[in-house]
Amino acid sequence: MFYIYCPYCGEHREEEEFHPKGEAHIVRPEDPESCSDEEWGDYLFFRNNPRGIHHEMWVHAVGCRKFFNITRNTATYEILETYRMGEAPSITAESRDGQASTGAQAETSTAQMQEGVRA
Ligand SMILES: [Zn+2]
Repeated sequence: MFYIYCPYCGEHREEEEFHPKGEAHIVRPEDPESCSDEEWGDYLFFRNNPRGIHHEMWVHAVGCRKFFNITRNTATYEILETYRMGEAPSITAESRDGQASTGAQAETSTAQMQEGVRA
């Protein structure tokens, strides 16, 4: 059992109250009629599955029933932030490029930084 912070309720609630709804920030093409079959197929069916930082849409199904987004590290399962629909994430894979995206890499870079301090 773990807890997820609902940005609408403003409190941590048991994870059983929530359901994942897939990748966040999927934008519907403005003019579907002008899309190629490939573009429309990408929109409908294809999703990113990165190792590391991923933005997901979740719903507080047994609470306020509102949708919100979670930034999660798929390698460690750590939830880094939650934010309301329409808001931008403060943590992205790009913002973490200078840092490590997985726990193993984080340990390595920390060790390297400590060596740098000693040298
Ligand atoms: Zn809620």
